[in-house]
Amino acid sequence: MKIMNPATGSVIAEVAADSLKTVRAKYDLARAAQPGWAAVPIKKRLAAIAKFRELLISRQDVLVRTLTAEVGKPIRQSRNELNGLTARIDFFLAEAERSLRDERVFSDAEGKMEERIAHDPLGVIANISAWNYPYFVGGNVFVPALAAGNAVLYKPSEYATLTGQHIADLLHEAGVPRNVFVAVIGDGATGAALLRQPVDGVFFTGSYGTGAKIAASTGRRMIKTQLELGGKDPIYVCEDVDVKAAAAGVADGAFYNTGQSCCSVERIYIHEQIYDAFVAAFVAEVKTFKIGDPTDEATYIGAITRRPQLAVLQAQVTDAKRKGAKLLLGGHVLKGKGNWYAPTVLADVDHSMRVMRDESFGPIIGLQAVADDEAAVDLMNDTEYGLTAGVYTASERRAKKILGKVAAGSVYWNCCDRVSPRLPWSGVKHSGIGLTLSTYGIQTFTRPKAWHLRGA
Ligand code: NAD
Repeated sequence: MKIMNPATGSVIAEVAADSLKTVRAKYDLARAAQPGWAAVPIKKRLAAIAKFRELLISRQDVLVRTLTAEVGKPIRQSRNELNGLTARIDFFLAEAERSLRDERVFSDAEGKMEERIAHDPLGVIANISAWNYPYFVGGNVFVPALAAGNAVLYKPSEYATLTGQHIADLLHEAGVPRNVFVAVIGDGATGAALLRQPVDGVFFTGSYGTGAKIAASTGRRMIKTQLELGGKDPIYVCEDVDVKAAAAGVADGAFYNTGQSCCSVERIYIHEQIYDAFVAAFVAEVKTFKIGDPTDEATYIGAITRRPQLAVLQAQVTDAKRKGAKLLLGGHVLKGKGNWYAPTVLADVDHSMRVMRDESFGPIIGLQAVADDEAAVDLMNDTEYGLTAGVYTASERRAKKILGKVAAGSVYWNCCDRVSPRLPWSGVKHSGIGLTLSTYGIQTFTRPKAWHLRGA
């Protein structure tokens, strides 16, 4: 398999992909190794994860350079991702023991009858992952899964393979046995081969289209299946905000990671009283974003990781223009080597346009005026997705009223594009099923077993 640098179009490595046969062999090794790992005391399992955290810090330079080279992510944002993962690991290290220990939930007065919940590991799990935040979306799964005593067959995205191999090497060096965390290398066909193994759970991060195929393939097997999928995340800006500050915050939410985040702001609704002022401030902010060499510390907009996405972005822009949108900035592929798309702002959009309906997953955004809060809520909910949604307003009461009516896994007041390890990360509708992060995101890698114990 050839690994490309999306910023230059050059091949940076070649790796051997797994076949159905090697995937099967890896599964067998993981199955054999898992009970031994589950029997390791939790403190020791967590010590290996703490060591992994240390290695992420001491090897940061090479990890960050690899991530930027294979994904095209600006180097500062690669470093932010690594630092963000260590903070998430801190949360898991602090909470895992408490979340995973047996609980006595009842005992009768005579001490004869007792009820307990044990958190048994699921067993061998498959983790099929995305490329846009490989440390985050991978770490949300494999860190708590390993802490809970599972073996993990981890398939990094074919666009983040080298990072996936780094993760495996560092976990092994940290003391996680080689057959307990196993990288499975390849593209969608390898992912499909992994799904054919009799695993005990499938934890997927990626697009709705692939997620639906995975749900169909695991559905009849009655195994835990979690799908963290895409979004079309809206922001509503009320008329009572500091326009310049709100425009800066929302523009960052839309264009950070070159718009290639599951929780990127993808639609912006603006109260009509401040529409013109907001649009002007927003465009001025986007114009300050430096696009170019992802290895340059000053770069904010990097390459488009997957080349086919350029055509998707262009089709959304063409469709919007044809239906009456005003193109204020960008709107075209940038010529030269690699995959580049100009930061794009479309104003006066509406929901007949694909840019307001389909996930863009790139540096393009649509801005639409709304008459009032009710219209904003209707439009925010007019989507197949439901990952995140946010409101910018001076009024907490107003924000809570609006966000209470929005169907989304996470809601934001005066912030956006934000993930916290302390809060559950989940989506509704086509944004997925199940959750990661928070203490629920530790217990999700276990099977709560009910013990009814009556003394003799
Ligand atoms: P993708 O669906 O193309 O690929 C995801 C993974 O699935 C890859 O590892 C790929 O090799 C594998 N795969 C593809 N076809 C398969 C098949 N038939 N069987 C098994 N595995 C298969 O998604 P992507 O381009 O890597 O990621 C971008 C998408 O992920 C966006 O939609 C984004 O919003 C979403 N995402 C969601 C979250 C979240 O937390 N909700 C986080 C990051 C990304």
